[in-house]
Amino acid sequence: DHPITMLESENAKPLPEGPRQVAFRNVSFNYEGGNGETVLKSLDLEFAAGKSTALVGPSGSGKSTILNLTMRLYDPTDGQVEIDGMDIRDVTFASLRENMAFVGQDTFLFAGSVKHNIGLGRADATDDEIIAAAKAANAHDFISKLPEGYESDVGENGGNLSGGQRQRLSIARAILRDAPILLLDEATSALDAESEAEIQKALHDLSQGRTTILIAHRLSSVMRADQIIVVKDGEILEQGTPAELLKNENFFKRSYDLQYDM
Ligand code: ADP
Ligand code: MG
Repeated sequence: DHPITMLESENAKPLPEGPRQVAFRNVSFNYEGGNGETVLKSLDLEFAAGKSTALVGPSGSGKSTILNLTMRLYDPTDGQVEIDGMDIRDVTFASLRENMAFVGQDTFLFAGSVKHNIGLGRADATDDEIIAAAKAANAHDFISKLPEGYESDVGENGGNLSGGQRQRLSIARAILRDAPILLLDEATSALDAESEAEIQKALHDLSQGRTTILIAHRLSSVMRADQIIVVKDGEILEQGTPAELLKNENFFKRSYDLQYDM
């Protein structure tokens, strides 16, 4: 098995100062080794700087793939992904990493303590900042679960952390990273209902002023976004502000895998 090796262009540059608008320009994509189906079909998407967009749609529509391409885990088969008008293939990986924080369903942990793993969010973070981020994500109650210097196969199985604890660790890391672009892929899926509401508020606070793309199933999170884009089979089905989509009663009748918690 070969790892994915994405080459950085020789001419790659860091992103200059900018508002961090993210755009998909006529992006088509299919996974190599997939079933040959086109996963994203000539997508044009605009994620306004500092605003939040909820991606909604049935499972398998291509929502996570949109985030994968935004992080440049894959390159489009056609078209381009841009940040502030710059094709991300021309941006250094270091700059892309610096500008984005991602929280997903599964959290990859590196060998080392919980504190070390949170601290990876930002290289120059102080101990106090790490603890503050841990508290904001409710990750402080297990921060010493793996002692400093503990080397384990934590990267593979998360040591002795539960799925919910790993997700809170990941959210703490994202809070610490303080990046202008925030990508959330079912970022609270592993949490129990009680802590979920609290963490959702922390994520909502974090998203303020950041270019946020979120995938969520709870209608309450989706309705708090500035913009909703409904994706189905790799195409945009409908798009608008929550208020605009609320006017259309069919929005609620269609199967978007939304959970009605409000
Ligand atoms: P969603 O997040 O909306 O549920 P995904 O973006 O995960 O949808 O998946 C879109 C389509 O791409 C699905 O048909 C899925 O099976 C396929 N897919 C996702 N990841 C891969 C992969 N790594 N390799 C091949 N096909 C994939
Ligand atoms: Mg997904």
